[in-house]
Amino acid sequence: MLENISLKPYNTFGFDQKAQWFTEASSITEILQAFEKAYEEKIPLHILGGGSNVLLTQNLEGIVLKNNLKGISKLREDDDFIWLKVAGGEVWHDFTQYCVNQNWGGIENMSLIPGSVGAAPMQNIGAYGVELQSVFVSLEAIHRKSGEIKTFTKEECDFGYRYSVFKGPEKDLWMITSVVFKLTKRNHQLKTHYGNIEEELKGIENPTIKDISQAVINIRQSKLPNPAELGNAGSFFKNPYISLAQAETLKKAHPNAPTYPVDSETVKVAAGWLIEQAGWKGLIRENHGVHKKQALVLVNYGGAQGQDVYQLSEDIKQDVLKKFHIELKREVNIW
Ligand code: FAD
Ligand code: NAP
Repeated sequence: MLENISLKPYNTFGFDQKAQWFTEASSITEILQAFEKAYEEKIPLHILGGGSNVLLTQNLEGIVLKNNLKGISKLREDDDFIWLKVAGGEVWHDFTQYCVNQNWGGIENMSLIPGSVGAAPMQNIGAYGVELQSVFVSLEAIHRKSGEIKTFTKEECDFGYRYSVFKGPEKDLWMITSVVFKLTKRNHQLKTHYGNIEEELKGIENPTIKDISQAVINIRQSKLPNPAELGNAGSFFKNPYISLAQAETLKKAHPNAPTYPVDSETVKVAAGWLIEQAGWKGLIRENHGVHKKQALVLVNYGGAQGQDVYQLSEDIKQDVLKKFHIELKREVNIW
């Protein structure tokens, strides 16, 4: 285990905070060893994947355990479906491309989401109209204190919009070591009616899942900052869910507000639009700010501290609340 290590290469914001202890686990034994040290020395344990959804606001006491478990195995298949068990340390985007290249469908719309497979169920990752839960079968996790290995079914994960039980009642209790997916081998359910996908597919008569994956990659590359070039953690806030009555008030004042029905009582508003309307898009505060193409993305232009970005997010939250009476909630995990 390494002592006093900079986490700069391990978080996509590129914040230079230190971990008291740092280790990468490539086996269950190594994971259990780290758990034991944390338990015996009564020090905190932080589980890290690709670091693409965390905001480091301080040096971290205790152990940062990076998930480096690798491997993809076929559990079974029939004519229509394939069931794959994927280790939590696999890179999510690489896994999407592996599947796309085999013509296994279901996760192509989630191409280019950064991070690890093990973190994907945490917030039920989603993009372009598809969420992880649509292909999820189960996951295996280890209890951080007892070392118990448990299989969680889809029901037990209680997935919701950018939510799972691991962000609720089971928060900080488990480390996800593998995930089982069920993907289509034929009769793929293509989802092209979201964002600019159809536009990007113009000219392609019968798009394949590979075409859709490539379209999503193209759109994302044109709109989103690449964390390797500009520190960020993707969408900083979730899209707020508001009541029908609130949506009507919003629409009266702003007929162009992008709202999407969720159910008979709830409407989703694009948080990026609210932030942009409040005047924050492209704002720069010394070395950090709000991205010029996507107001939902806060960026580190180099040398900023996590505290600065946290304060910026707080100011945005308060301003949006004052102007629209809508509360923004952070998607990024604050450490
Ligand atoms: P980390 O940032 O390392 O960790 C995130 C949280 O999960 C932490 O609380 C951590 O403790 C916990 N965690 C990580 N691994 C485990 C594990 N194995 N067991 C238990 N807990 C664990 N998200 C979307 O949903 N859709 C998008 O389209 C999207 N686009 C993005 C675009 C960019 C440019 C960026 C930078 C981020 C984007 N994100 C998106 C957010 C992020 O990529 C996802 O949330 C991703 O799943 C985080 O994975 P990670 O391995 O980096 O997690
Ligand atoms: P966009 O296409 O500009 O759309 C803005 C917002 O409107 C999105 O957040 C999306 O909500 C919503 N939206 C658009 N079309 C919709 C539809 N037909 N039905 C319901 N909701 C719709 O969004 P973007 O910022 O470029 O992102 C594109 C996709 O990538 C989105 O799904 C977004 O969630 C995902 N993404 C996520 C992150 C992250 O860090 N979480 C970062 C970048 C991109 P949803 O977000 O609910 O889909």
